[in-house]
Amino acid sequence: MNKFICIFINIVLCLNIFSQNKGKNLILNYQTCTEEGKAIVTPTELNPAKTAILIIDMWNSHWCMTASERVSAMVPRMNAVLQVARELGMQVIWNPSDVVTAYSGYPQYERAIAVISRTKPMIRETPPTKFTAHGGPCLCGPGFKCGGNYGWDGMHPDLVIGDNDLISASTDETYSLLSDRGITNLIYMGVHTNICVYGKPGGLSDMWQAGFNCALARDLNDAFTMYDPLKPYTPDEGTTEINENLQKAGIPNVNMGDEFKRLGLLKSSSTIDYVRFVPWGKPDRPYFTDSETTVTLTAPWLEGVEIRYTTDGSEPTAKSPRYTEPLKISTTTTVRAMAFRKGKPVSLPSFAYYVKMPSEIPPKPDVYLDNLEFIPNAYNERVKNSMWMPVIAQSFEGKPLRVAGKTYQHGMGFRAPTSVQYDLKPEYKRFVACAGIDENMLADNNGRFIAINSSVVFKIFIDGKMAAESPVMRISQEPWRFDVAIPEGSRRINLICMDAGSRNILDYGNWVDAGFIVCKNFILRTGSPCRTNR
Ligand SMILES: [Zn+2]
Repeated sequence: MNKFICIFINIVLCLNIFSQNKGKNLILNYQTCTEEGKAIVTPTELNPAKTAILIIDMWNSHWCMTASERVSAMVPRMNAVLQVARELGMQVIWNPSDVVTAYSGYPQYERAIAVISRTKPMIRETPPTKFTAHGGPCLCGPGFKCGGNYGWDGMHPDLVIGDNDLISASTDETYSLLSDRGITNLIYMGVHTNICVYGKPGGLSDMWQAGFNCALARDLNDAFTMYDPLKPYTPDEGTTEINENLQKAGIPNVNMGDEFKRLGLLKSSSTIDYVRFVPWGKPDRPYFTDSETTVTLTAPWLEGVEIRYTTDGSEPTAKSPRYTEPLKISTTTTVRAMAFRKGKPVSLPSFAYYVKMPSEIPPKPDVYLDNLEFIPNAYNERVKNSMWMPVIAQSFEGKPLRVAGKTYQHGMGFRAPTSVQYDLKPEYKRFVACAGIDENMLADNNGRFIAINSSVVFKIFIDGKMAAESPVMRISQEPWRFDVAIPEGSRRINLICMDAGSRNILDYGNWVDAGFIVCKNFILRTGSPCRTNR
């Protein structure tokens, strides 16, 4: 058939589906449950013109790396569902709370704040809801506590914000936008269900009180819970538990992706889910493991699938090892995973990155860098103060050296990208140091909006050859451990603090407790420093 006729038919088909659905009522299966947990399904008729989707938070970064990745994991499904909702004529409203002003100048935000704001009425109480899921310091699991910084400055970059969407800043504003449009039904999405989706301005509790028919998208929310690999208890189970808590209180859940597929509004073959990992690091924010980490894989919205994975960097196929129980990771590893049904991939490919830390905390040096003179590169030496000279025994900003909750007396404060060299003496046998992002920025409102930006890589070169390097370091990460043998006859060591891709002026990297292990009589037993302070 002629290619143009084909395209024409496609457009007609497309327009047909669109016009068939636009404005038509649809029936979604809402679900609540009894106190005993028995599901009660209630087919609920919705007029799209009187229905809005409200999305809470969905930030680009979180205090916890696993929480951040779980937000990313929701994005394809959310984009697909929102696209259908818009075509049906539903209003999409984003309530990104802390980062709402990041949308200043966006028409979706300016239109929203132009509303004549009225006080949200109190029509009824929110049904008493008891959240029973367990919580931990973060979602990563035992022995780990992701830094408490405000790691966000916007919403997830892959989320599609539609031209006719609104970005709202407060309860009253959201209420006024909804009532001006005659909207009576709300479907909530976002994070974290038991805290912000429920309680933030414009959240479920507020709008329930204002009398709206509120439901929660079961497949597009995430609760703040925990990971216990021994039970095992995953954030997916915690989220299910929180969603059931709401159902028991009479607040219905609805699986939007599956309902749209059932109604033929979303292609049943469309892949909109990732296999999820817990804990979940990525190369730009790795999960550091000291000894062994138990990694659990889940695919909560894909029924009857086999999860297949690889640890050799290759993309999983239907023949890759099948995931049957949590993986034990004790080396630096990329795990890739994909879900298959009858040999066909039914998920998007996803991966996680784990970094094994050097097991030993390096010994304290005999000679601290603070007491040595560094050598800048020849150009810097000539013109002075070109680029960024390190600061001795202080952070680059002249504050105490602070890394991952600890203050250090000795060290050097760098701002990436920069490097300096030191002359090596024959008695210097090893270079030892810890290195991490300077944390002073957390003193100002916990690093709100800025702590997301710092990322560096530390490297050590000896006479032009790389001797060691760190992974990408982010704020509050455990400092990287360096203990490097210095080959006999070496001339100079170069300490480098590199930008890790953001080229940001907040890339402050500290070398702490850094310097040389000395062995004056050159007796060096293989593999161990000739003297340590331990
Ligand atoms: Zn975490």
